[in-house]
Amino acid sequence: MNQIFESELQKHLHQNKSGWIEVVCGSMFSGKTEELIRRITRALIAKQSVKIFKPVVDVRYSKNEVVSHNKNTVGAFVISESIQILDLAKDCDVVGIDEAQFFDLELPNVCQELANQGKRVIIAGLDMDYKGIPFGAMPVLLSVAEFVTKVHAICLRCGGLAAYSHRLDSTNEETILLGETDRYEPLCRNCFQHATLKNSALHYQ
Ligand SMILES: [Zn+2]
Repeated sequence: MNQIFESELQKHLHQNKSGWIEVVCGSMFSGKTEELIRRITRALIAKQSVKIFKPVVDVRYSKNEVVSHNKNTVGAFVISESIQILDLAKDCDVVGIDEAQFFDLELPNVCQELANQGKRVIIAGLDMDYKGIPFGAMPVLLSVAEFVTKVHAICLRCGGLAAYSHRLDSTNEETILLGETDRYEPLCRNCFQHATLKNSALHYQ
């Protein structure tokens, strides 16, 4: 979303008291959280009332901050159920939600309610899990959002545009396995296809 467009959105919020939903999605290492933090920071500079929420499952780095891979931080509420956001965000103009894929499936209803109340809701999350399957409530959020931004990482194997988060240890079948470059690599469609074939090693000799 470019800056002119974003300021148009701000104007719209003030003039029409209308809310909306924005989703920033992509693979791991694609800069989703950096983009969420950038938008939140701009709202803070404009003296809007902002709160960020993240699910209790994401314990990377810090319990009370949204931290991107480049170590930007913004204060956040760590909560276990998405319904809690309705109460906690009562007085907010802008609601940020990070790691949305880990929240329960009530999250789209919660976001709709917030937007209907006139709030700007900015959601960041992984659109696909490590198998390339749409993750948690993300597909529904993408459908109901007014604005969707898909960001990409760079494929670690070929330098192409990466949309997949490939898990390096394929023997671990948990959908939620937190980690960084030691556990995941961003891959493009071709490299992901090759990597997820049983004899993937043969393709890289
Ligand atoms: Zn590739």
